[in-house]
Amino acid sequence: MLLRILIFILGICSINRSNLCCDQLFATPSSFSVIQSSLKQLKIEGYFSFKNFDHVAKDFGNRYHFLPSAVLYPKSVSDISSTLKHIFDMGTTTDLTVAARGHGHSLEGQAQAYRGVVISMESLRAPAMRFHHAGELPFIDVSAGELWINILHESLKLGLTPKSWTDYLHLTVGGTLSNAGISGQAFKHGPQINNVYQLEVVTGKGEVITCSKEQNADLFYGVLGGLGQFGIITRARIALQPAPKKVKWIRVLYSDFSTFSNDQEQLISSKDSFDYVEGFVIINRTGLLNNWRSTFNPKDPLLARKFSSEGKVLYCLEVAKYFNPEDTPNTDQNIDVLLSKLNYIESTLFQSEVSYVEFLDRVHVILFQKELSLYIEYLKTGSDSDACARGFD
Ligand SMILES: Cc1cc2nc3c(=O)[nH]c(=O)nc-3n(C[C@H](O)[C@H](O)[C@H](O)COP(=O)(O)OP(=O)(O)OC[C@H]3O[C@@H](n4cnc5c(N)ncnc54)[C@H](O)[C@@H]3O)c2cc1C
Repeated sequence: MLLRILIFILGICSINRSNLCCDQLFATPSSFSVIQSSLKQLKIEGYFSFKNFDHVAKDFGNRYHFLPSAVLYPKSVSDISSTLKHIFDMGTTTDLTVAARGHGHSLEGQAQAYRGVVISMESLRAPAMRFHHAGELPFIDVSAGELWINILHESLKLGLTPKSWTDYLHLTVGGTLSNAGISGQAFKHGPQINNVYQLEVVTGKGEVITCSKEQNADLFYGVLGGLGQFGIITRARIALQPAPKKVKWIRVLYSDFSTFSNDQEQLISSKDSFDYVEGFVIINRTGLLNNWRSTFNPKDPLLARKFSSEGKVLYCLEVAKYFNPEDTPNTDQNIDVLLSKLNYIESTLFQSEVSYVEFLDRVHVILFQKELSLYIEYLKTGSDSDACARGFD
């Protein structure tokens, strides 16, 4: 019951927030119906939807709301190829645009198509995930509409993992490979687009092309980081490596930016460094170290208690070392050596030991906790909040 009330309230709030909606600019009913009846003629395994567009006219940024003319829910690559070929064959008689939509976590309407066709990539379930782990370079073939979190869980069943990640894993393969896919592993492995062996792409003419470094390389490098402008990725072959079981997750603070960035540079250029290096700025946060205690333990609890973050600009270095339980003593030693070369504020060393999955999926948990607290705040005060404007998923 509580869940239903929550969904209802979130729904009302998001409708009220849709003030940048562009329906007033939309196509006339006649042009809609011409496009729609033309698309209806296509023989596909999936289906087109010509109504209930609200969800595809939204994204994480919640600033742009462009209603399309149709949404394709493809069941096969051939559905996407037929649709693009059909639109291409219409020639200059139409200015119909097409956008692939992954998990819709863009900020500025990139996965929306004003009066055009949105292709809902998450409904493309083929091919099913296929692992190739016999050789020296294991990889997975996966549909571009798959979420990275699902790839993580499936790979771990075989003791494998992709090498490079985003901070947030509830995004699609096609969505992040169209950007770059960056997180704290990028200094070691490059962004996600550096860890792809092969792609299957549907071009603007509707051709289905396999591309890689060696084969149709222009298309391969165009599509990777191509912001969805060079074709639609339907399948990706992603590099894997053996997965660790555990992670030592560490945060330290700096008050001086140069000291902070020098330490970061030193870490990303040294050979036997951490497996993950990131950093962020913290401005005037009250009780910061106290808040961290739910996840991290201070190295020196007494000193940590005396540290005040209020009124300060601080720079947080976040690092992580992967390990397996049998390597714990070596890992601890290795971390001590790495930390001893850094110049952070001594009282601000915080450590935690979590599973590999907990570490990689950390942002989802944080977002969920934030949403929950915003929602509770909303119930208490009745005031509008960001929690009502977005449905994190
Ligand atoms: C909470 C949050 C955390 C984030 N953290 C990170 C991070 O740590 N690192 C990082 O690099 N990014 C991060 N991002 C950004 C994110 O990687 C991009 O917004 C990404 O595009 C979202 O993926 P999506 O599946 O939601 O794609 P969508 O938003 O649906 O699409 C994004 C773009 O890709 C295109 N596209 C989607 N699928 C395909 C396809 N199959 N073929 C061709 N083009 C396609 C779309 O047309 C659009 O232009 C974050 C975003 C959010 C909201």
